Amino acid sequence: MFENDASLSFRLTLESPYSFKCQRCGACCNNKRLSLSPAERARLAEFFRITDEVFTREYLDPESGEVKVGKNGDCGFLGPFGCRVHPARPQVCRLFPLGILRDEEGREFFGIMPLHPDCVGLLGTDGTVEEDLKAQGVSAE
Ligand code: SF4
Ligand code: SF4
Repeated sequence: MFENDASLSFRLTLESPYSFKCQRCGACCNNKRLSLSPAERARLAEFFRITDEVFTREYLDPESGEVKVGKNGDCGFLGPFGCRVHPARPQVCRLFPLGILRDEEGREFFGIMPLHPDCVGLLGTDGTVEEDLKAQGVSAE
């Protein structure tokens, strides 16, 4: 298990021991500001089988361009049974709780973001950062 003081420093590399099993409870899908890359937007529009234009109108805030949120701050993609777009969810959601920091030479370092107080996900060391990225389908976008 990781110690708390390791949480905020970007000292993990691809080879570092790491695993996280999200239980998809949705507790952390609140008060998030999600900006989508063009590839993420296209993937989500395809997931909903709608055009990019319709997707933008239905799901993105016209002022900020971020994913719309409900009155209670819930992500617009959160449904009663968790994330409605799980197979097409944005990269930041796939990575979570990992964060990536790239230095000037393009080297990547990883850190563990603070978990929601009600998170029931299982943080551990059963794999490596690289294995988790592959399992989550994370790629540069
Ligand atoms: S896209 Fe899905 S996983 Fe990401 S914040 Fe929204 S509901 Fe949660
Ligand atoms: S709070 Fe934890 S277990 Fe629940 S959806 Fe978020 S990361 Fe997954």
